Amino acid sequence: MGVLAVLAEIVSPVRCAGCGLPGFALCPACLASAQLVDVRHACPRCGAPLVGTRCSECVGRRFSFSRAICAGRLEPPISRVVTLYKDAAERRYAALLGAVVTDACEAWRGWPDAVCAVPPTRAALLRRGFDHTDAIARCVASGLDAPYTPLLSVAVREDQRQLGRDARFANMAGAFTVAGDVSVPGRVLVVDDVLTTGATLDGAARALLAAGASEVRVAAVARA
Ligand SMILES: [Zn+2]
Ligand SMILES: [Zn+2]
Repeated sequence: MGVLAVLAEIVSPVRCAGCGLPGFALCPACLASAQLVDVRHACPRCGAPLVGTRCSECVGRRFSFSRAICAGRLEPPISRVVTLYKDAAERRYAALLGAVVTDACEAWRGWPDAVCAVPPTRAALLRRGFDHTDAIARCVASGLDAPYTPLLSVAVREDQRQLGRDARFANMAGAFTVAGDVSVPGRVLVVDDVLTTGATLDGAARALLAAGASEVRVAAVARA
């Protein structure tokens, strides 16, 4: 930790996103109350928690990625960590979010040849002032002992918060590119903060497969 970081920690200690207790990004009690998904009982294709043996969330849908993990549900306190991190720029939560994803992806240790992040749009980067997914993906790469490699760039992308499910998939096809001089390794794990329909991660996987990846898996902090 650098001197400035130590000073910042004294002046403004990190606080539990759930209850405000100083000294924790999420205190043990709030962490215990978090709605983390048991990945052994989640759909391997889309990461949704399974109620029966078949997933009703992704039936009839095709994804470019082969498997998906969502570490938690977008409910408090995880949703609050995500909001404080993304929108209030409390960047010290990145390590916590990265650790939550790493834990969920433990069974994939040794699988990825590279970990990369879904890059933000230019507008989102300007709004927030930092690349929020990059920091999480770096923590996941280090947690899984895999190389972190920024592979994706944003091509064109409309803000899709108002779009329906099919429109989102259409909007995201071709939304990302891999720079021509980047050599894409075979097995790539793509990390994002929130998985809603899977359209963004599908677009990311599509670009990586087109650029030479043999298999793409995806992981998100939370499922909306
Ligand atoms: Zn707490
Ligand atoms: Zn599913």
